[in-house]
Amino acid sequence: MKIVLVAAVALVDKDGRVLLSQRPMDKQLGGLWEFPGGKVEAGERPEAALIRELKEELGIDVAESCLAPLTFASHAYEDFHLLMPLYVCRRWKGQVVGAEGQAIAWVRPLKLKDYPMPPADIPLIPHLVDLL
Ligand code: C5P
Repeated sequence: MKIVLVAAVALVDKDGRVLLSQRPMDKQLGGLWEFPGGKVEAGERPEAALIRELKEELGIDVAESCLAPLTFASHAYEDFHLLMPLYVCRRWKGQVVGAEGQAIAWVRPLKLKDYPMPPADIPLIPHLVDLL
């Protein structure tokens, strides 16, 4: 089965809320709320992929030193196996916006479970609740 590597991040604001980004309706898993991030390209490091994706998707600049690895998701979708390291980031430059027109939400850790998420993201929630 094809393995897809996606790097994801929990952006945490000063009030301890976590950012979720809504997947566009026309994409796979459209409408679900995910930890932002994206595919790691061939030869790319996950941190570099995240920095690139956060600029494209959320309009912010993140320094690599601000990305702290927290845990790892591994999920078998029907047509590929997803491996997804989750980082935590508390510092960035710029204002977070849905730069690709997507909805975003700042969510208290205990409320994350109320947002419909891709199946790979759901097991990550308890790790964030423990941390935050
Ligand atoms: O965002 P993108 O569509 O490039 O991600 C590739 C695949 O990884 C998605 O189709 C989705 O199945 C999965 N994914 C996920 N959780 C995320 C990001 C991506 O399950 N936070």
